[in-house]
Amino acid sequence: MGSRTHEVIEDLIYLKARELGYLAEKEKSGPGWCADVLVTKGNEKVAFEIQLSPQTYKETQARQDRFKNSGVTGCWLHLRPYKRLYTDLADLPLFYLSSQNGNHYVNLIDNRKTVLLGDFIKGFLQREIKYCTIAKTCRLQKLRINFIEMACWKCKAINHIYYLDNPYVTSCSFAIDQEEAMWGDDKNAYLPHVLKAVNNILKSPQGSKLRVGEIKKRFSGAVGASYSSFGCYKCDSIFGDWFVMHEELDARNGITPINTFEIEVEADKQLISAYGHWCYPEDKDFCDLPDTNSESKLKTETLDSRYVSTARL
Ligand SMILES: [Zn+2]
Ligand SMILES: [Zn+2]
Repeated sequence: MGSRTHEVIEDLIYLKARELGYLAEKEKSGPGWCADVLVTKGNEKVAFEIQLSPQTYKETQARQDRFKNSGVTGCWLHLRPYKRLYTDLADLPLFYLSSQNGNHYVNLIDNRKTVLLGDFIKGFLQREIKYCTIAKTCRLQKLRINFIEMACWKCKAINHIYYLDNPYVTSCSFAIDQEEAMWGDDKNAYLPHVLKAVNNILKSPQGSKLRVGEIKKRFSGAVGASYSSFGCYKCDSIFGDWFVMHEELDARNGITPINTFEIEVEADKQLISAYGHWCYPEDKDFCDLPDTNSESKLKTETLDSRYVSTARL
């Protein structure tokens, strides 16, 4: 991309801001800075900076400080990603440009979202994008539940166990994984909303052939304690976590067949992670909004940021 591209992008931003009814100026300068497009919105000023050539991070920050000193919010659109910049910064709205088939796009730096340039400009100016210091999973979650066959070690009856294989997501498409402990009662698979979803599947015509024993605390001789477990629907023998884990592993690796169901549920737990990010959800459903439904019995669990998944959706 060269200077012609710079001009094209500049025009698109300028025209979009005008179309939205804001005052927009191209190549507007102030003390120590020159904005590609300066947009004035009431007493707020936003400078959109198109950076097609490489610019060091230090330089970007220095230029951002000069905008800040003039009461201007700099919004950076870089063509070249900073390879080692993984997380967003509150003081530096920085996004990446890309082009395909003559269209220009803006990506969030961790690739959570890609939108057309015009939509991004509108989003940024109309506060559909906001910096949030936490990531919080949304209430409605689409669960993918995989059932696998497991023969009872005692009575040999064919049973089914299941596992969840998609992480919980925020309304801005960030995935939060929860590390699970074996022999604990906090397994995702045993959460009340998951049990409810499984029950609904078992009652449905497509799930009526599945045989899932009750999930409850059973004593394990091997562990010397009781823990919530899968067990045989016929003889109620415990299916030890160790064996369940191995069955699950084979299924995850595609060795054993699975029967997958997708079901949307209202989660009774929201995961929160200390992940600062530019939140760009649909309908301004930002991660840091307090829960509107205070009646709900949602349990909120704060996770250490090391639980943050690196998986991208
Ligand atoms: Zn059995
Ligand atoms: Zn968010």
